[in-house]
Amino acid sequence: MNDLTGKNVLVLGGSRGIGAAIVRRFSAAGASVAFTYAGSQDAANSLATETGARAIQANSADRDALTSTVASRGALDVLVVNAGTLVLGDPLTLDADEIDRMIDVNVRAPYHASVEAARRMNDNGRIIIIGSVNGDRMPFAGGAAYALTKSAMQGMVRGLARDFGDRGITVNSIQPGPTDSDMNPAEGPMAATMHSFMAIKRHVRPAEIAELTAYIAGPHGAMITGSMQTIDGAFGA
Ligand code: NDP
Repeated sequence: MNDLTGKNVLVLGGSRGIGAAIVRRFSAAGASVAFTYAGSQDAANSLATETGARAIQANSADRDALTSTVASRGALDVLVVNAGTLVLGDPLTLDADEIDRMIDVNVRAPYHASVEAARRMNDNGRIIIIGSVNGDRMPFAGGAAYALTKSAMQGMVRGLARDFGDRGITVNSIQPGPTDSDMNPAEGPMAATMHSFMAIKRHVRPAEIAELTAYIAGPHGAMITGSMQTIDGAFGA
């Protein structure tokens, strides 16, 4: 296990799914963890009780709430930006406001949170974005806007890695393939279609993504920066 003892960690969007697995993993490694959530108060409270992590209600779509929450955590060692939403459907009929809300959470929030965190982040800190393999590959119709948001993360991490590298701060995107969560249940109606694109035909487990996140956050991740770390059973290959 990487030594994350005492590290000051903030996970944006940690109440459920992949984010909750990351909160569990970092808490178990001895980090001091806080996480945000928007609506899932019961899940957030129960995860806080289970792990000892601190739950903070802050909607990533609200830039002031987001940046003040990041600032309130002081000198972070690790920022994980996991909060994200998925809107699928025919672009000709999807509600434009719904698309813009997704862009707020999936694109604007990761940028502003990362920059705010970097203002006071400790040297050798880690900024880790949960992107998606759909930033590389969108093999079915209806996902253009979601893919747009995840491709945007690729340009962002490459640029911010250059901006903060002189302080030893690394900036990376983890790109999961289909992962078992409320957003994309392993037994859901899309599962067979998704597995058809994969070499290993099952959903990724949130704990597997949390393990990769902890590796990048740990001392062995010091030279991994400006990169996309794909964990997808070859969905994108
Ligand atoms: P879930 O929908 O299961 O969980 C999303 C989490 O993000 C919840 O904790 C939710 O909190 C939080 N969240 C959502 N919107 C906001 C917001 N506006 N402000 C603060 N928190 C928010 O999703 P997953 O765990 O599946 O996905 C997590 C990330 O992984 C997303 O970025 C997603 O795009 C990405 N991803 C997921 C894949 C999958 O197949 N599941 C594949 C590839 C990438 P609350 O309920 O309180 O709002």
